[in-house]
This record gives sequence, structure tokens and C-alpha cells, in this order.
Amino acid sequence: MEVAQLKENYKNCNNCSDLCDSRIQVVFGSGNYDANILLIGEAPGKTEAEKGIPFCGMSGKILNELLASAGLSREDIFITNTILCRPPNNRNPKKEEVENCRDRLDQLIKIMQPKVIVTIGNFATERIINKTGIKSIHGKVFDYDGILVVPVIHPAGYLYSGRNPQMLQEMKDDFMIIASIAVSEKKQKNLFDF
Ligand code: URA
Repeated sequence: MEVAQLKENYKNCNNCSDLCDSRIQVVFGSGNYDANILLIGEAPGKTEAEKGIPFCGMSGKILNELLASAGLSREDIFITNTILCRPPNNRNPKKEEVENCRDRLDQLIKIMQPKVIVTIGNFATERIINKTGIKSIHGKVFDYDGILVVPVIHPAGYLYSGRNPQMLQEMKDDFMIIASIAVSEKKQKNLFDF
């Protein structure tokens, strides 16, 4: 299956009755689905739900800055969320909603076969590697079925901190790790193709 077909399959998803009732639209994902980096956030926010694009609001601005600091752009990544619909009043995703969206994310990973998965914040990190405590595990490298996983602090956490400069530096350091892994993985692939 192609990414476009997967998107089509979830366009009118009604797995979660609460979310179906309140959502403006399903926010499937955006970016380059041939990329070797897949970023996974928590859930669309208000701006994302309106525009249909993940991380296009305040958190997205920070994310773009982090990518740029590591020489990356949105064209070098594909980005989606742990759940595809905005929870009402910005509440946290419920466990059953994460479960209802499990197969969709598994299928995306299977189609894309990224070299690196970047889990943004605790929800995505728990969903992929079953770990929480982002403040202590961010920037470390884990394995998920042969795919490298790097958890990072959610940009919203940085905004809540009042834009703590030390936190921003740590986040930039983590993106340098991600970029270096993605480049070295790419080289291996190029060498094999060569
Ligand atoms: N926060 C997220 O986790 N995802 C988005 O798409 C936007 C903000």
C-alpha cells in the first residue's frame, strides 16, 4: 500500500466517537514520505486541525528552528502524530484513542521504513518504545524492530518553560544526533545501491 492510500483509508475514520464528533478534520501527516526520518508528535492542536498539517502552529515554528539548526528541513522528514484527531479542549489523548490509532501508525512505519523515528514528547515515546520520562531519556538512541528511535522534548515543553535557553540548546543537540544518524544511515544505503 502507498502512503496516499493509507491517508485515504483514514480520511473518514470513526474509530473514536469523541474525536469524530469534535474534530474539524483528520490530520494525517505531511512532508516527504520517502524521507528516512519519521517524526511523531502527540496530537494535532487547534491550528493544525484548522489547516490539516501537523506542527504548523507555535510548536511547529520551534520544530522548524530545531530542524534548521541541524541542517534539516521539512522536506527531509515526514511528520505525523500519535493520534490523528485533535482532542477536544486540548485534553491529553486517551489510552483507547492511542490504541485505536495504533494500526494506522504501524502501517505508516511499515510503508515508509524510516531509518530513524523521532518521538516528540512522552505520548509518542511511550507509544513507540513503551518508555516515559522524556526529560531523562531525550537524545538517547533506542531500537524499535531494527529502526533507531530518538525521543526528544516536545516544543510545547520548551514554550511552557518560558523559552529556557538551556532547554533549547539540549533540544538542538538532540537534533544534531538525529541528523548525524540519518546521514550515516543514508550513506550506508547509497553504498549498497552503488
Ligand atoms: N503538538 C503536537 O504534538 N502535534 C502537532 O501536530 C501540533 C502540536
